[in-house]
Amino acid sequence: MRIVFLGPPGAGKGTQAARLMERHGIPQLSTGDMLRAAVKAGTPVGLKAKAIMEQGGLVPDAIVVGIVAERFMEPDAAKGFILDGFPRTVGQAEALDLALEHRGLKLDAVLELEVDPKVLVDRIERRAADTRAAGGTVRPDDTPEVVSKRLATYHEQTAPVSSYYAGSNRLKAIDGMAPIEAVAESIDAALAAPAH
Ligand code: AMP
Repeated sequence: MRIVFLGPPGAGKGTQAARLMERHGIPQLSTGDMLRAAVKAGTPVGLKAKAIMEQGGLVPDAIVVGIVAERFMEPDAAKGFILDGFPRTVGQAEALDLALEHRGLKLDAVLELEVDPKVLVDRIERRAADTRAAGGTVRPDDTPEVVSKRLATYHEQTAPVSSYYAGSNRLKAIDGMAPIEAVAESIDAALAAPAH
């Protein structure tokens, strides 16, 4: 099963994608995680991405599309994958369609977690506080200023991706305001429903 998860920062994509990964035995491919790993390792991609990520902007499409297209050809993704945090621009969505088409593949579902923008900042602040309390390292882009910028970037550049998928009848909206278990149930129901 090949799934795309859309939704703003703090919508719960990571949490729900991790659950689906266990349930379906397919990997969660998070471009944010891949880029953070590249930054940590100091690779050429990481060096280009670091400052952009720290400011809450988007890493150029060509870089991100390249790492995703390589990643989904790895053996663990043969049965499918869950894309978390990608595509974030219409250009990335088009490139993903093309890359899949070249390999004779297609997406099974595009799920969008819909959340009231007013709760997102609180959720991200809570995530940072929980991480701190657990003795972990808080993401450098989880500061209030960068979170605002990330949300603005989302509304400007990523919101149109929903229309792209809605236009081809592939979008399934999920109420992301419900408790985690209820959101998980809605996702299971959406995935079980026949494709359009
Ligand atoms: P995330 O962990 O998904 O919140 O991503 C963290 C940061 O990585 C984002 O704020 C962007 O700077 C960068 N990033 C992650 N995924 C993408 C993507 N698909 N396109 C461009 N930049 C991305």
